[in-house]
Amino acid sequence: MYKIIIKLEYEYAHRLIYHPGKCRNLHGHHGKAIVELGANTLNENGFVMDFGDLKSPLKKWIDEQWDHAFLANENDPLLTPLQAEGLKIFIFSQEPSAEVMAKRLFEEVTALVLPTNVIPLSVTIRETCTGLAYYEPRVIE
Ligand SMILES: [Zn+2]
Repeated sequence: MYKIIIKLEYEYAHRLIYHPGKCRNLHGHHGKAIVELGANTLNENGFVMDFGDLKSPLKKWIDEQWDHAFLANENDPLLTPLQAEGLKIFIFSQEPSAEVMAKRLFEEVTALVLPTNVIPLSVTIRETCTGLAYYEPRVIE
């Protein structure tokens, strides 16, 4: 199998409302999304697919939805006053952890129109220099 990996960067704020520690506080990160796709065969250019055809729509989505946004749990009491201020907010039905972001971005990758031989493999979200969360649609047994 061949793999390609693209990286996208963005800035965001979030907090984990049920976390007993410091992640409960509103804080920001320089996030990095790492998207992996695979194929058993290459196209006529010798590519899994053109990096640009993958990067452009995902960068657009991240820029519009997550970059410089508050990523929020739908139950966060801060939502109402921040919405009243007209701030950029992306709402999750659960805690906006790096794991949840990884799965959400993976859903965006699978929603793209990809060449038929290309399979989305995983999304990694780098939240800090020392902490990454990884999602792939495979059950650990
Ligand atoms: Zn955080």
